[in-house]
Amino acid sequence: MNVLVINCGSSSLKYQVINSDTKEVLAKGLCERIGIDGRLVYQKAGLDKEITDLPMPTHTEAVKFVLDALTNEKTGALKSLEEIDAVGHRIVHGGEKFKSSVVITDDVIKAVEECNDLAPLHNPANIIGINACRELMPNVPMVGVFDTAFHANMPQKAYMYGVPYKYYENYKVRRYGFHGTSHSFVSKRAAELAGKPYDNLKTIVCHLGNGASVSAVLNGVSVDTSMGLSPLEGLIMGTRSGDIDPSAIEFIAKKEGMDLSKAVNMLNKESGMLGLTEISSDFRDISAAMEKGDEKAKVALDTYCYRVAKYVGAYVAAMNGVDVIAFTAGIGENDDFIRRNVMKYFGYLGITIDDSKNDNCHEERKISTDDSKVEVYVIPTNEELAIAEDTVALVG
Ligand code: AMP
Repeated sequence: MNVLVINCGSSSLKYQVINSDTKEVLAKGLCERIGIDGRLVYQKAGLDKEITDLPMPTHTEAVKFVLDALTNEKTGALKSLEEIDAVGHRIVHGGEKFKSSVVITDDVIKAVEECNDLAPLHNPANIIGINACRELMPNVPMVGVFDTAFHANMPQKAYMYGVPYKYYENYKVRRYGFHGTSHSFVSKRAAELAGKPYDNLKTIVCHLGNGASVSAVLNGVSVDTSMGLSPLEGLIMGTRSGDIDPSAIEFIAKKEGMDLSKAVNMLNKESGMLGLTEISSDFRDISAAMEKGDEKAKVALDTYCYRVAKYVGAYVAAMNGVDVIAFTAGIGENDDFIRRNVMKYFGYLGITIDDSKNDNCHEERKISTDDSKVEVYVIPTNEELAIAEDTVALVG
């Protein structure tokens, strides 16, 4: 089946067409600056990227240009729209309503809308993308794949905050977790690589990208993860603070004369590695600065690794052990220094990293030594393929 995978943001739309049988990406790209002016990036497999400025006042025009590009006589990856068998949409927040992917209906859209206040920047954009696709491809089945769904079976002790219970009852304030598609994809692949049954395995996935989270996957179920009500909780990220004493926020806000939403914006956009280093949120820049002797970059990288290690340690406790640890996403897949320095905290568990395998590793590979008590892998994530596979499972 050919699945069009759509990941819609407020002013952007990323897409891929994936043949689910061969796992081949037939074409991919993105629309940027929707609602401002508009730019289409399109790339058919094996060809160069084409970049075209096109007017995109709304997401509907963006989807239309994507469909036109996909079926273009010269460079299109498809002969006609008939060749799109299904559309898989990434949806950020499914709240407590969605515990797995679903076929999109009017009722589903209504229920996603009811989760809008949990993800006010993301869910409305996801719905706009869904509506635009439904308008242009009314007879093509569509599936919603939620970032939160994989974590929806966490036990209550893992998702409650220590605040008055009425906030959970009245507003569903609790921990949800994100990057679920990636944690699911990588944990399944980790079991395959380790040659062990997924439903009888303790896995910790470190998804370390610009946004970052760790998950504890026990027998195929995510039993804890580091992000919370929103993606702000947990690890130190590119620009997000991760865990912080809420009193520190009040303290800073008072000193700087910030209101609450400005303070939260600062925690989301100006903090994390960018805030700590005052250089960049990109680990390549930060590593280069550290190598030149920049003290703040060194402190930031130490603090980052320590925070990841604390979560990994916590999840060893949560699962009473760990069989496999997997690193994924931009930093997890590429940064050997970070992997080595996180794992060095776990000598007491008998984990040893083989530097000859870890150094310069940017691909799927076991990086632990053969006698390591826990197997450690680098596993490139593929959220689009995971969305396509979920889509096929529901409408194939
Ligand atoms: P993601 O959000 O998964 O796309 O990850 C993006 C982040 O990965 C970037 O901001 C960089 O910090 C990091 N990254 C990407 N490539 C490399 C690399 N070769 N070495 C170190 N970090 C990298």
